[in-house]
Amino acid sequence: MKNFLKLIQQTQPDSPVINQQELNRRLRENSLDDLESLCADFEHMRGVVRSVQRNYEAVLEENQRLKSMLKDLVNSCYCWPGNRCDRCQRILNTILRENTEERSSSVSDHQEIIAKLRKRQARMKA
Ligand SMILES: [Zn+2]
Repeated sequence: MKNFLKLIQQTQPDSPVINQQELNRRLRENSLDDLESLCADFEHMRGVVRSVQRNYEAVLEENQRLKSMLKDLVNSCYCWPGNRCDRCQRILNTILRENTEERSSSVSDHQEIIAKLRKRQARMKA
């Protein structure tokens, strides 16, 4: 069979058999190129996610710092627990609201995205 193919290659360079072989070779090359490009994209995406994660952590830290500043303001006020002035009550309401709503949803969204990316990465490695 090999010799037969060789013979065809030598005598009929434009035969359908050779075109099919060439096509297969090109398809293989394209698949490898696609895979490489996909890996590069994924690598880039991981970098973006890391950067977003770092920024997010910085925002959370800043948030924590501001919150503790607000708590200090409330603690150093003339009012006391159970009888807070309007300003302190507003601050406490804001802190409470942030603890229950915004933070939980944004953190869980972020964690969900990370979990999905990790799964995808594990699939790619397998
Ligand atoms: Zn007060």
